[in-house]
Amino acid sequence: MILANPHFAKIQASYLFSTIAARVREFSAAHPDARLIRLGIGDVTRALPPACVEAMQKAVGEMGADATFRGYGPEFGYDFLRETIAKADFQSRGADIQADEIFVSDGAKCDTGNFQELFAAGGFTIGVPDPVYPVYVDTNVMAGRTGAAADGRYAGLVYLESDEANGFVPAPPEGQVDLLYLCFPNNPTGATATREQLAAFVDYAHEHKALILFDAAYEAFIRDESIPHSIYEIPGAREVAVEFRSLSKTAGFTGTRCGYTVVPRDCRVFAEDGSKVLLAPLWQRRMSTKFNGVSYPVQRAAEAVFSEAGRRQCRELVDGYLANAKLIRERLQAKGFKTTGGDNSPYIWFNTGMDSWAFFDKLLNEAQVVTTPGAGFGRCGNGYIRISAFNSMQNVATALDRICSIL
Ligand SMILES: *Cc1c(COP(=O)(O)O)cnc(C)c1O
Repeated sequence: MILANPHFAKIQASYLFSTIAARVREFSAAHPDARLIRLGIGDVTRALPPACVEAMQKAVGEMGADATFRGYGPEFGYDFLRETIAKADFQSRGADIQADEIFVSDGAKCDTGNFQELFAAGGFTIGVPDPVYPVYVDTNVMAGRTGAAADGRYAGLVYLESDEANGFVPAPPEGQVDLLYLCFPNNPTGATATREQLAAFVDYAHEHKALILFDAAYEAFIRDESIPHSIYEIPGAREVAVEFRSLSKTAGFTGTRCGYTVVPRDCRVFAEDGSKVLLAPLWQRRMSTKFNGVSYPVQRAAEAVFSEAGRRQCRELVDGYLANAKLIRERLQAKGFKTTGGDNSPYIWFNTGMDSWAFFDKLLNEAQVVTTPGAGFGRCGNGYIRISAFNSMQNVATALDRICSIL
């Protein structure tokens, strides 16, 4: 008989966003006239930058004429895009990354989820942040690298706790951890890591023959000049770190789909006998076997993100969300809440002083505002709420008026 993958059954049944959606549906059914404002799920709300729309339209026109039509593209992305990214995102910041180390994909969720396929089925230790973007954990659970969950934590994982004491940036672990997931600016806490904090992880990875998977999906929100945008701004990171980027939050591409993963030529893991194994050929093999590239019009739209007009438009887009974030942060602080994030991040994370889900229900029922309970991101999220700046300024202002009137 055909057997199901038994590891899927270990995944915690109530996926965070489906639970939220169910509670919102229930509320809306009972209060059909309520005008809900959603500051919950991390999806952008503003239109694509005009430079991207123009580039995509032009590319669609090319696809409609035999002379300019394109079929399958290069499987790791068109050179025009890989070269643009290498220059704009990395070389311009002093990070030595070349075009052939950039792998264009349909987004960072897939890549952060799929990357674990390059590692052994077991026999090494995985460290994840707590609170955490659930993709890092669940994909390793599905692959059978953990035991069962108890009390919201899977046996076999090392949880790097983020809390007020460490400013939501954990230090490298004490013992041996072989694979480390990091995300800065962080989802859900909004915390950012300094150069020194990232350097401590790079040093740890060298000393422990470990690998860092660095998710930089929110780098475009960094406004503080001293904060690194890429782990490759840290000397020595090339050999020990893979970086994931996405245009989803940078340029409003959540529905358009384009991201990229950086696997430096000298980035390594190890074979059982301790010999070095380069990662790039493995990722190339994985991509050419299981992926056939991002559509040409989308890659042209992605290229336009880095044009002069595109950069200006993306900056304005992100600035708009950051202005919302500032408003959320300042109004919560005025109410006496201690907040994290919202300055170099679209997320504001704060301690509610009560149960996360109870606070979520209070905001839903009394203010008709949808947020995200921190407990859904891990044990360290208990008592916290994440508010997202992804909405119009008007909606954010109205939501904050309502929230502040009931607190
Ligand atoms: C939104 C987000 C991404 C981006 O995912 P895409 O698949 O590129 O849309 C990646 N990582 C984190 C932590 C995110 O919040």
